[in-house]
Amino acid sequence: MLRTNTCGELRIEHINKTVTLCGWVQKSRDLGGMTFVDLRDRYGITQLAFNMDENKDMSDKARQLSREYVIQVTGTVIERSSKNKNNPTGDIEIKVSEIKILNTAITPPFTIEDETDGGDELRMKYRYLDLRRNIVRKNLELRHRLALETRNYLDKQNFIEVETPVLIKSTPEGARDFVVPSRMNKNQFYALPQSPQTFKQLLMVSGFDRYYQIVKCFRDEDLRADRQPEFTQIDCEMSFVEQEDILNTFEGLTRHLFKMVKGIDIPALPRMTYTDAMKYYGNDKPDTRFEMKLVDMKSVVGGKNFKVFDDAETVLAICAKGAAEYTRKQLDELTEWVKRPQLGATGLVYARHTAEGIKSSVDKFYDADALKKWSEACGSQPGDLILILAGGEDKTRKAMSELRLEMGTRLGLRDKNNYSCLWVVDFPLLEWNEGDPNLLASLAGRWHAKHHPFTSPKPEDIALLDSDPGKVRANAYDIVINGVEVGGGSIRIFNKDLQSRMFEVLGFTKEEAQKQFGFLMNAFEFGAPPHGGIAFGFDRLCSLFGGAESIRDFIAFPKNNSGRDMMIDSPSEISDEQLKELFIKTYQ
Ligand code: ASP
Repeated sequence: MLRTNTCGELRIEHINKTVTLCGWVQKSRDLGGMTFVDLRDRYGITQLAFNMDENKDMSDKARQLSREYVIQVTGTVIERSSKNKNNPTGDIEIKVSEIKILNTAITPPFTIEDETDGGDELRMKYRYLDLRRNIVRKNLELRHRLALETRNYLDKQNFIEVETPVLIKSTPEGARDFVVPSRMNKNQFYALPQSPQTFKQLLMVSGFDRYYQIVKCFRDEDLRADRQPEFTQIDCEMSFVEQEDILNTFEGLTRHLFKMVKGIDIPALPRMTYTDAMKYYGNDKPDTRFEMKLVDMKSVVGGKNFKVFDDAETVLAICAKGAAEYTRKQLDELTEWVKRPQLGATGLVYARHTAEGIKSSVDKFYDADALKKWSEACGSQPGDLILILAGGEDKTRKAMSELRLEMGTRLGLRDKNNYSCLWVVDFPLLEWNEGDPNLLASLAGRWHAKHHPFTSPKPEDIALLDSDPGKVRANAYDIVINGVEVGGGSIRIFNKDLQSRMFEVLGFTKEEAQKQFGFLMNAFEFGAPPHGGIAFGFDRLCSLFGGAESIRDFIAFPKNNSGRDMMIDSPSEISDEQLKELFIKTYQ
């Protein structure tokens, strides 16, 4: 080894020890008689001290060091005269007797410090330098811990990790596939997996019983903020189980991770139906760190000649506790906020409940008695603010869900160190695809599997597949933490006829279904066990545990919001020669 110790481990008890350290020059301070250099590695920072009077040669060398030089030093651990309580190695410093420059460095494009002066794009371009920063490194250490503890837990539960292929054929999981041309098979393409879904099901047919994999998945979706075209899942599947068994097993994983990685004991996960989640939170991934449930006001506000409410399909309220003090200016601003095109509300009605009574923005139509009814419906107390949106059902519920989250944020109810986890269950099996921009245009105007086509309908709802497909509920579930969908899965279809019926409902002809999924349906004829599973979005889980919004900071080499890797400059063109070999013509 080129070193005896790391830059993070020397303490007062090491005084007088001769050590050799390696690392990067964080910074140096030349105080005339004394020169100090902060030496950094993955483990910390150790101060090197050079005394001009004692060793002029060494001091001269130290003065030649620039930021990010890679050096090796040998010296004696000594006690510092002025200690630095903020640094674990702050009691000591190294009196250097030998110094070797292992490599020089040009000036980095941004400072390698917790608070850096580098903008996003620049840091992405020089990601390897960004990764030298504590913050980013710690995120990756957290990721490592989570992966390790996941493996520990699943291994103890008899799961085995099996790798599945990356060059496969299309599996529909609600996005477009990335495709890879095959040179050896003219005009044929592999698809990259949107998830290992069909493979893990086939492993169940093989009898593997409990499978998992921490695995890369690829989805060619329109990029929204904080989406990565390639991302990582903790992908799992189990045989001979019912929904309840899966929920318990993966609740166990979640609790294990919180305990081992964050030292937090989380309570048992409540279950909420999809219907209730939509009704009370306007959202299938409710942030349950705070209440502020949506209240249906349609029957409470009608018949007072207020056209906006009378004509609306849906009238929804929330009661923001302790927000009656909101000023006119704040309310105007909130009104503008809900009117933004993203939410598209036509306006915001409010009522302040104070000790003096209730005053609304539509007092012309609603007298004190009527407002009392509002208050009863919403459960408001003096000090609270009632906010109401009205309009079409879907739009209003969605807008109210957003407003609820916004008020939660404004009222400080969404502390990132406070975790609220739950299961959302009983999702609908299907949803009507009006024309989803993330799907091929040919799939518009037909039913689309809400989770994926391998999800089983609830047995009691199967009959509805013919009469009212939209009403069929699935044995599908999501795990939601702080309003983030962290994972989702389902009990699968394991019967050929039902699977083929499902493809029919999804608008596949028999031939199409056979061509695309024949391998799976055939496998079901060879003794497929009942099975089900789940996948966790691993990047998202990491960012949640790290208390951050963005998943990008938890991925070593992420892509930017346009799906580009700024560092290696990808995607990029390939040579005509390569194109020709792959039989590909390019189009303008
Ligand atoms: N393959 C699914 C997904 O990626 C997860 C599952 O059903 O297990 O969401």
